[in-house]
This record gives sequence, structure tokens and C-alpha cells, in this order.
Amino acid sequence: MAVGVKVVARPGSLKQQMYLPAIAEGMGVTFRHFIKNFVGNVTGNRDKTDIVTIEYPEQKKKYPERFRGLHRLMLRDDGQVRCVACMMCPTVCPAHCITIVPEETADGRIEKRPKLFEIDELRCVVCGLCAEACPCDAIRMDTGEHAKPTYRRADAVLDKEELMSRGIKSVAVQGGVGAFWREKPEVANTGQVQSANGSRSGADTVPAQIVPEGPPAGPVVAAK
Ligand code: SF4
Ligand code: SF4
Repeated sequence: MAVGVKVVARPGSLKQQMYLPAIAEGMGVTFRHFIKNFVGNVTGNRDKTDIVTIEYPEQKKKYPERFRGLHRLMLRDDGQVRCVACMMCPTVCPAHCITIVPEETADGRIEKRPKLFEIDELRCVVCGLCAEACPCDAIRMDTGEHAKPTYRRADAVLDKEELMSRGIKSVAVQGGVGAFWREKPEVANTGQVQSANGSRSGADTVPAQIVPEGPPAGPVVAAK
């Protein structure tokens, strides 16, 4: 049996077959974007252009609140470090990059404080476990800064003074009193307020809740 061959004509007009009009059209689109972005960039109206590139470090993008950046040590009201050298953070750190040497304090209410507190930012894997483990909001990673590049290995190790230089006074109170204790002194005085979700990074914005006073009202009996 003979096999028939069906000849199919090339689609499109002469204009499509020549390609030149399509090339000119494409160049026109490119040129239009070039003019728009060039003029916007030169006149300072970068937000009106299609340019999405951030000219770091002159320009910086705002990171989300939960971004984990360079560490900082938070401060008490008197400017002292909040850390009580409980050793929770070096214990939980998977990279073993936190070094703490504790010392006794003269303050009778606080047993210890760090004499030496160092974090090796080159070993840190930015997991955030240290900030999660801290029981008193003493260490945070909410600076929004990256670890800086250094020429010397030793410069990547941040000491207590540098970590405290980024610190601010915490709104949390050691002992479990919650975020809005300053705004609600009458509630804070009772010591009956606690953070709603216990989040460290969001402690400034977390609403507080009142915990009922006194022991639980008797044993719970299961319903039949
Ligand atoms: S973020 Fe993780 S690796 Fe870095 S110091 Fe904290 S616990 Fe260690
Ligand atoms: S967990 Fe907090 S209080 Fe304990 S040693 Fe680390 S920073 Fe200090």
C-alpha cells in the first residue's frame, strides 16, 4: 500500500516569516523599559521603576519581625546585663558556640551573672534555640543585622560588651510577669500576669492575661 504524504503549508503571513517586524517590536518593548527605569533611577524616582534590585548595603530591605539576626544581650532597668548565667543557652546550642564564665553577684536577689559571655558568630548556625531557651529574655536575635564579615577569625567572636551594646531594656520581668506590666502596675504588683504565648521575640506586642488567684478549686471529677 502506497503511503500518502500530506504537505502542510507554513503558517503565518509574509510579515511573520520575515521576523524583522517581531524583532523591532521586541526591541521597542526593551527600549521602553530601559527609558522608564533609566529616567526613574536618575531622577530619584526609583519606586516608579520596575527595578527590584536592592543596592545593598546603601539600601536595606526591612526584614520580617521573626528574622534571626545578630545576637544581643538585653539589659535591666539599671543597665546591667539581664543574663543570670543559668547556662541554658550554651547547653542547648547545637554548634557549641556560646562560652559563659559565671561569677557571683553582690545583689542578694540574683545569684549569678556572666563574667565572660562570648558567641562565635562564625560557628553559629542561626537556629535561635538560645533565645528560645533563655528563661529571662536575656538573649535575643532580633537586631535585624547580619554577622559582619571580618578579616581576622577572632573578630567574629562577640564579647559581652559588644553583645550588650545592642541591648535594650526588656519589658519582661524575671519571675514570669508579662509584657504589659509597666502599663498595668496594679496588675503587675499582684504578680498574677503572664505572657499569653510566652514568645520572646514578640514579647513587646503580646497581650497579657490574668491568671486566677489561689489554688485550683478542688479535684476534677470526670463526667460519667
Ligand atoms: S542561634 Fe543556635 S547555633 Fe547560634 S548561638 Fe544560638 S543556639 Fe547556638
Ligand atoms: S539562657 Fe539566658 S540567662 Fe541563661 S545563660 Fe543564656 S542568656 Fe543567660
